[in-house]
Amino acid sequence: MTAASNVYPTAALQAADAAHHIHPFTDTKALNAEGTRIITHADGVWLTDSEGNRILDGMAGLWCVQVGHGRQEIADAVHKQMSELSYYNTFFKTTHPPAVALSEKLAEIAPPHMNRVFYCSSGSEANDTVFRMVRYYWDQMGQPDKKVIIGRWNGYHGSTLAGTSLGGMKGMHEQGDLPVPGVRHIDQPYWYGEGEDMSPEEFGIHVARKLEAAIDEIGEDKVAAFIAEPIQGAGGVIIPPETYWPEIKRILSERNILFVADEVICGFGRLGRWFGSDYYDLEPDLMPIAKGLSSGYLPIGGVLVSDKVAEGLIDKGGEFYHGYTYSGHPACAAAALANLEIMQRENIVDYVATDIGPYLKERWTALGEHPLVGEARMAGLVGALELVPEKGNRKNVFADTGTVGTLCRDISFQNGMVMRAVRDSMIISPPLVLSHDEADQLVAIAHKTLDDTYAELKRQGKV
Ligand SMILES: *Cc1c(COP(=O)(O)O)cnc(C)c1O
Repeated sequence: MTAASNVYPTAALQAADAAHHIHPFTDTKALNAEGTRIITHADGVWLTDSEGNRILDGMAGLWCVQVGHGRQEIADAVHKQMSELSYYNTFFKTTHPPAVALSEKLAEIAPPHMNRVFYCSSGSEANDTVFRMVRYYWDQMGQPDKKVIIGRWNGYHGSTLAGTSLGGMKGMHEQGDLPVPGVRHIDQPYWYGEGEDMSPEEFGIHVARKLEAAIDEIGEDKVAAFIAEPIQGAGGVIIPPETYWPEIKRILSERNILFVADEVICGFGRLGRWFGSDYYDLEPDLMPIAKGLSSGYLPIGGVLVSDKVAEGLIDKGGEFYHGYTYSGHPACAAAALANLEIMQRENIVDYVATDIGPYLKERWTALGEHPLVGEARMAGLVGALELVPEKGNRKNVFADTGTVGTLCRDISFQNGMVMRAVRDSMIISPPLVLSHDEADQLVAIAHKTLDDTYAELKRQGKV
């Protein structure tokens, strides 16, 4: 369908949506007053809305559409699978070809010490699985006192009870008395916001040692695991200082606790390697995955486990009372498999590492010259701009955190591109198939959006 003929009854759809649909992570009352945007089609990196506008999808949906929108090959694989076997479970001593093939494929692309996967339908479920799995593991290993899981403030691990608890979003914790017992949080490696007078290198070591202090305070014999995203996504694309992960690795190597690298965003090529753990050489024991696994075409997630974890989980014997009706769902597995085959055939991971990643990074980081931008950062194809009232002063931030970010996000939408706002920083995480020309358009729209936002803030007397 061409953009011109893509006209929907926007007002009627908005009214029905307002009457009946509760949106995730949304002030629904405020949204309903404003009217939601209606996306009707998407192709490659472009979205089309119900008014026929074309919008550059700078967020790859929600960090997930690695291979771009509208891949007929994935739709066909799902159609074929649903015609043959649309559903069967994997509980009762049964499996099916797509689950087998996907598991084999994941073992092929995962780090060499990870050869097994447990399936679920989302990143949140993957982290709920992690929560139960690490405790079960230590029970099986004869150390049932090892129960505490250490996460990080401003980390994101999903929105279920365990996901919210493992994550460190204080606003989420406040709604419903979370975290659940048995979770501790340490500081994040957010140099721009929290590094004070330290250099990034000093701060990386300093903040990594919070893990050492926490384990030693709780007692190594009581700590089950440490969970972290290689680069924090929802927390604002927080790229740790170069010293951070090596120091964390040293601390973990001296202590017998499991390490969980949440790969829900960093996995599947986002950083120009198959996994963020490859990018930072992390050697985790467990890797929750979702999002880019199927490029979002159908919901599927999982937890990849190391051979060491498999020892407790499998070799020691016994039934782990855990699973989901849709664990390894055949149509979702078929979608994921088709997605990974496209990524391999088109060398998309290398394209990010050696071509479009460096190409966009050069242009994106140049936005750091803009008077509204305190820092522009990017790794692979995920980046952020810190918006600030006073360039060169990391301590001066806008009053009413989030207001400027939301303004800038809305202006970006009007200018024809989806960027996400986290506090007062702007985030992009585009499809990995972004072309050079599209990257140029992305940067041009971002630049215009910064200019427009700056002009509006000037008008308001905020800069
Ligand atoms: C999105 C995300 C999750 C949660 O995934 P859902 O599919 O939304 O449940 C977990 N961890 C990280 C790092 C994420 O970005």
